[in-house]
Amino acid sequence: MQFKSIVGQKALISKLIQTTKDGRISHAQLFLGAEGSGNLALAIAYAQYVNCLTPTDTDSCGVCASCVKYQKYIHPDLHFTYPTISPTKLSIDVLADFREAIITNPYMNDFDWLCNLDSAGNKQGNITAEECRDIIRKLGLKAYEAKYKTLIIWMPEYMKAEGNIILKLLEEPPENTLIILVANDSEKVLATILSRTQLIKVPKVLDEDIEQSLVQNHQIEAEKAQAIARLVSGNYNLALSLIDIEHGDYLNTFIEWMRKSFAYNKPMQVGQPDDLTALIDRLSMVGREQVKSFLTYSSQMIRSAFIYKYGHPSLRKNTEAELAFLNQFSAVFTPNNLSLITTAIDEAIFHVERNASVKIMYLNLSMYIGKQLQMAIIKK
Ligand SMILES: [Zn+2]
Repeated sequence: MQFKSIVGQKALISKLIQTTKDGRISHAQLFLGAEGSGNLALAIAYAQYVNCLTPTDTDSCGVCASCVKYQKYIHPDLHFTYPTISPTKLSIDVLADFREAIITNPYMNDFDWLCNLDSAGNKQGNITAEECRDIIRKLGLKAYEAKYKTLIIWMPEYMKAEGNIILKLLEEPPENTLIILVANDSEKVLATILSRTQLIKVPKVLDEDIEQSLVQNHQIEAEKAQAIARLVSGNYNLALSLIDIEHGDYLNTFIEWMRKSFAYNKPMQVGQPDDLTALIDRLSMVGREQVKSFLTYSSQMIRSAFIYKYGHPSLRKNTEAELAFLNQFSAVFTPNNLSLITTAIDEAIFHVERNASVKIMYLNLSMYIGKQLQMAIIKK
């Protein structure tokens, strides 16, 4: 992985290159960034740069003996630790799967990866005590050929108390060893590990960088690329998952959903068809990815409503049609209900990914949204 394959992140890449040139390579670093920021891809590109035999001012060379092995993830001095699913105890036992997954999508999240190991996606990932002991064993060996024997620990969030096994290693690693932890959520990483690493903050990918990459690398037409970039809040992994989905008429469906949710708790006339459940049937007929995509759009629209009502006009990124809707619905949005609804939709996305019933999710969510919107009117 070369820096040139990374989506955006130009400022951080320059900084990483400069510190390498200055010889300031901290032996234990934490690349902390949200899902889809590319922190894993960056960690790999950085390790390749540090170990490149003929690096340039802007990137690793891509052709030296070290780079060639790095690009196939077969360098004997490049090691990975990542969550696995029982009964697999060691990362190395599923290394072939990991190589394939990372070559396919270096922006994958832990859930995507664990689904590779277990297609039902219901099992709990884990970094085992055996794995932690294996890390110590691997890094205790002499480097074969690299400048730095490198270990990338992806998702240290999965290390519970067993993570303490590697504390001493983080504190006093063998000579010429580089340990890079790659995490999404520092609150879920052991404090004892955090305090022993140098923090590298990986920001979210900028909308324009996502847009540009989708157009150049995935041949998406500009308008669709822009729509996807606007949806995903800097998460390039999510952007990739939305490429094949037809966005079609999300706005009208979203408006219909909001209207019907809002009306649902009103007393119904005898013989009146239940509009909301008919809509839910329709929304549930598509695949999970598309459900996720529509919910993501909806969550983004609710966030837009907040910006529309309370933010500076220059922050608005909506289309004319979306603005017309936001204007119409403005009366039923409050800071409180917008925040509650956003959280509820984000939680629903989480559950859809984990195989919850889509219909029941939509029904609960619709009733909740309806109640929240009605309360805004009642309070007036
Ligand atoms: Zn090279």
